[in-house]
Amino acid sequence: MDSAELFAKLESSAPLSGSELSAILNLTGADDLTRLYALAYAQKLRVTGRKVFFRGLVELSNICARNCFYCGIRRGNSKVRRYRMTEDEVYSAADMALKSHFGSMVLQGGERNDPEFIDCVERLILGIRQRTGNQLGLTLSLGEQSPETCDRWFAAGAHRYLLRIEASNPALFRKLHPADQSFENRVACIDYLSSHGWQTGTGVMIGLPGQTIDDLVSDLIFFREHNIDMIGMGPYLSHADTPLGAAYPHWTPAFELSLKMIAAARLYLRDVNIASTTALHTIRPDGRELGLLAGANVIMPNLGDSSYRKEYNLYEGKASLDDGIDDCMTSLLEGIAKIGEEPAPDEWGDPKHFFSRVSSKS
Ligand code: SAM
Repeated sequence: MDSAELFAKLESSAPLSGSELSAILNLTGADDLTRLYALAYAQKLRVTGRKVFFRGLVELSNICARNCFYCGIRRGNSKVRRYRMTEDEVYSAADMALKSHFGSMVLQGGERNDPEFIDCVERLILGIRQRTGNQLGLTLSLGEQSPETCDRWFAAGAHRYLLRIEASNPALFRKLHPADQSFENRVACIDYLSSHGWQTGTGVMIGLPGQTIDDLVSDLIFFREHNIDMIGMGPYLSHADTPLGAAYPHWTPAFELSLKMIAAARLYLRDVNIASTTALHTIRPDGRELGLLAGANVIMPNLGDSSYRKEYNLYEGKASLDDGIDDCMTSLLEGIAKIGEEPAPDEWGDPKHFFSRVSSKS
């Protein structure tokens, strides 16, 4: 398909096929890319206007029971100094989210499935709800959990969950994870969340060793087939103390391809929330703004103490490790204003897709 044909299709707003998604991801010329991002941004404007939704990110702990081959906080990385935030520190972060007028916060961390951890997260959810008078939307990103645990955390008051599929091609997924991590279980977790009331997010890493454009097209189709509400995806960045980072030490991160994936997701899925991730910001100082201009509408500024942030090193060179929240916010707000976007103070910023899929069921 040539680009004139592709743009005629994109401008018609008709549903996109797999070959059209592939054509989007294969675009290269500067003019074509500018035109693609403008179309995706126009679609974002139709869904949420110029607003950017903030989620204050709290990295609860880097203790992880999993051993993903790409991740700096994997269980087997003995160089990591492990930490867990105290409950009071998490509550202070919630106060900060409220004070900063972030509508929502995200509790993210290494995966643990032990009763002590499950109880602690439940207490935190209840505590944050009570302390903030239910004013903050609450997202969890704590890996694969059992249906019972998901139900408990939902009953306590969390309502969004992010669990990246990482790679929707089962063969690629298996290359990225040890044999005790099953692709099928991860899919089952995502499906359980979305069928049990959660606003459900997933995503993939982009530009992984061994990943093809067809894999990325399948990822986009996976998001649609699993009726996903929120997308969090970004470039794969290597970490020397991981098996994948050691095998591919000078891997070039796929910045442009990541922007094309954001644009393709916006044009294909339309009314979902899409995050412009820290990994984009790590590659380029204006990476998050470029993500917004390619169709993303969510940003997750880090609320944690910078001493913890340094230990939550998923990949090398993670952005804003030394800056306090005030410095990060100043530069973020300036960057957002420069591109004509505006923060949505105190709004939860729920994904419209969630309400349309829930109402279409009833
Ligand atoms: N434990 C939870 C989970 O597995 O969903 C949340 C924490 S996990 C560290 C958050 C995300 O970081 C993963 O879903 C993965 O996509 C991303 N990540 C880990 N290592 C990465 C790397 N080297 N490059 C880019 N993203 C990475």
